[in-house]
Amino acid sequence: MVKFLDIKRITESFEPQLSQEATRIISSGWYLLGEEVNAFEKEFADYCDSSHCVGVANGLEALTLILQAWKQMYGWAEGDEVIVPANTYIASILSVNHAGLSPVLCEPSDRDALIDPTRIEELLTPRTRAIMAVHLYGQICDMKAIGEIAKRHGLKVIEDCAQSHGALYQGTRAGALGDAAAFSFYPGKNLGALGDGGAVVTNDRSVARTIRTLANYGSQTKYVNQYKGMNSRLDELQAAILRIKLRRLDADNDHRRKIARRYIKQIENPFVELPYVHSWLRHVFHLFTIRCKQRDALQQHLNKLGIQTLIHYPIPPHKQEAYAEWNHLSLPITESIHQEILSLPISQVMTDDEVQQVIEAVNQFRPTE
Ligand SMILES: *Cc1c(COP(=O)(O)O)cnc(C)c1O
Repeated sequence: MVKFLDIKRITESFEPQLSQEATRIISSGWYLLGEEVNAFEKEFADYCDSSHCVGVANGLEALTLILQAWKQMYGWAEGDEVIVPANTYIASILSVNHAGLSPVLCEPSDRDALIDPTRIEELLTPRTRAIMAVHLYGQICDMKAIGEIAKRHGLKVIEDCAQSHGALYQGTRAGALGDAAAFSFYPGKNLGALGDGGAVVTNDRSVARTIRTLANYGSQTKYVNQYKGMNSRLDELQAAILRIKLRRLDADNDHRRKIARRYIKQIENPFVELPYVHSWLRHVFHLFTIRCKQRDALQQHLNKLGIQTLIHYPIPPHKQEAYAEWNHLSLPITESIHQEILSLPISQVMTDDEVQQVIEAVNQFRPTE
């Protein structure tokens, strides 16, 4: 059987180092706000070509904290608007609500499933404050076009890098391409912890400081509270694990690209559409997504041959019960992506033989009628 993502095998590939680090942290007696988080923040900021990194509890809170910080710093009002791609993972959109702002959905481009910059300007209102660029599946958005729109209209750009650790755009890393960026270290991400974790990366010192305060009960000095903040921390154990795994991130992403290259070269099936790749450095293949009009039949066919696949994502955010106010909306590109998309197995520990099995199984597929 070919698993979609074998997290156990990924963890084992870092052993015995991870267990040694865990033992070291356990016996240190220090579990929060310590040297490991400080060191990881420095190393991850460097890795992302950025000057500041703040470790937080997860990716959703990283996004929320950035928006909350800007809201405080610039005096944005409750309900001010943030443009978000309509086909993203729902957490991107939830963060806007959690910051007391209003998400405005933008259709993606049908070609690459990334936010379509040519559709952003028609969505702007006097209350628009920011654009969220989600580097979906591991591929960086058109940051030049997005940056130009933001500049023209005085908007902030937030990057959702939860799927794009290490991707490069014109020589610069994901995370250093907007005003601030959010990362998730959920175990299945390209850089994953052994539990939840997240980080904000930015070149803006005052944003970093505000986020640190907001994430610490709104307090900079102990027992003095400036904001109604929250508690959102990356812990020492996760930081120590991430420091080990960060050293191999580039090699891991190269392995993913190697697999993607083979899929693109060797999958030949008239019923299957391969992903559009802008450039091989811009993409880190968090997911390898194909499109197929007979998606459910293809998924069943692969399942029968022992190949696990997943759908990212089966229901678009505007059709979710959580967003009942949007259920009447028609967003045809987003909806067709959700109907046709299928993610094939890809990871830093997948073997050549497993890749071969996937290729052969996809090539064998024919819709029945
Ligand atoms: C995983 C993910 C998040 C949320 O990260 P968590 O750490 O799970 O909260 C946000 N946005 C995108 C695009 C994601 O894939």
